[in-house]
Amino acid sequence: MSEKIPVQELTPHSIDGQYKGVSAKYNDKLYVRSVNGLFNKIRTLSLWALMIGYFVTPWISIGGRQAVWFDLPARQFHIWGMTFWPQDFVLLSFLLIICAFGLFTITTLAGRIWCGYTCPQTAWTFIYMWVEEKIEGNRNKRMKLDKEPMSTSKFVKKASKHFIWLVIALATAIAFVGYFYPIRELIPDLITFSIENQWASFWLLFFTLATYGNAGWLREKVCLHMCPYARFQSVMFDQDTLIVSYDERRGERGSGRGPRKKGVDPVEANIGDCVDCNMCVQVCPTGIDIRDGLQYQCIGCALCIDACDEIMDKMHYPKGLIRYTNEHALEGKEVHIFRPKLVGYAIALVAMFGLFGWAVYDRTPLELDVMRDRGQLYSNTSDGRVQNSYNAKVMNMDQKAHDFVITVVGLEGAELDGKTELSLDEGEVGDVPLSIKAVPWDLEKSRTDIRFIVTRDDGLSVEQESRFIGPASR
Ligand code: SF4
Ligand code: SF4
Repeated sequence: MSEKIPVQELTPHSIDGQYKGVSAKYNDKLYVRSVNGLFNKIRTLSLWALMIGYFVTPWISIGGRQAVWFDLPARQFHIWGMTFWPQDFVLLSFLLIICAFGLFTITTLAGRIWCGYTCPQTAWTFIYMWVEEKIEGNRNKRMKLDKEPMSTSKFVKKASKHFIWLVIALATAIAFVGYFYPIRELIPDLITFSIENQWASFWLLFFTLATYGNAGWLREKVCLHMCPYARFQSVMFDQDTLIVSYDERRGERGSGRGPRKKGVDPVEANIGDCVDCNMCVQVCPTGIDIRDGLQYQCIGCALCIDACDEIMDKMHYPKGLIRYTNEHALEGKEVHIFRPKLVGYAIALVAMFGLFGWAVYDRTPLELDVMRDRGQLYSNTSDGRVQNSYNAKVMNMDQKAHDFVITVVGLEGAELDGKTELSLDEGEVGDVPLSIKAVPWDLEKSRTDIRFIVTRDDGLSVEQESRFIGPASR
């Protein structure tokens, strides 16, 4: 994506005036100039990792089953060899809280590094911009093309771009739906138009259009107007947070920024290091001018650093006029990396990770749920005993089949009737009607606390409390 910046563009008069001193909010369409540099290379690597992870994960199988599969009809989430059930929802909530806390910690430390390097909106927007540049050419060619009247060549270019954008959007949607609908069935079903699940068809269409719209058309507007994180991230910033900043003292030295001949020493000439070439604005995917100071629109992508470093190199000035730094460093004050807020966040994060790991490790892969028959308090059998009815659900949450035995304790002499022995496959739920019969004179009270116990073939057991209701005889 590198686009060499010609030296003659180092004067404001030779630069297209679209952004000269004007922020993107006054312009409808951004023509982002591509740039290469250290941070763009880092982002390319992170985006590749993200893409490979996203598109390949649904195709990985463990033990003959899709490794990451959110099986909504069966209410089971299979994640890398573990199966989570609706009962584990609290773990999922906990995981989301950990992710939010992780984001707070990283934002306090390194600003909007998430937005610039790993956010899916950034990732897909960069892919779409790359496709656009390959088909329509660099920034100047794209601007020229848009001004031209429609012609066969323009139509072919535009149609090809939108077609490829739609193909990428469809591939994104297929991969997304593949996390919920077995992807090895989804693709043949899609090709033969035989997807039975209407929700799968809806989400395929929705995600195709959402990806195409967000990354192709809305782009930075999602960050500027739709992303809530952009609005509240500044609350987490402090004066030691790493941010992309313009060194105003250096750039505006003496009589300030401005064009000059190559080779002029800005310190001797008492002028700023900024040659006012506007490259930092032209490469900015949100169209802002970082020289105006920290703005919520800045996604911390560091493209302006790459662009400015390239200019500084050409001018034989030191790099870093725009750089990752923090307010304290810019003011020449002491920088505190390990400040109390950050240390507090980090300790809380480690503690939460530990608790989460322990909770997952300690999870019992067996669940028993017993419901009393609410329609009837009790009934009398022909032999004079009192009977209560129950419905027991046994969930085998393990990754293999097991045999189970159900027993009851808490009521001397009572008889448990029904299918008390059952075999369940991995992930299977056994639904068994049960009844307890007791002789009336064994009942000390009208309500007796009892416990149902289900025991697995390897000795693992869980229990659930319930009640036996009958006439009290004593
Ligand atoms: S900050 Fe750097 S890239 Fe931006 S206008 Fe000044 S010299 Fe050019
Ligand atoms: S100002 Fe710089 S870091 Fe911020 S969004 Fe624009 S190019 Fe990226």
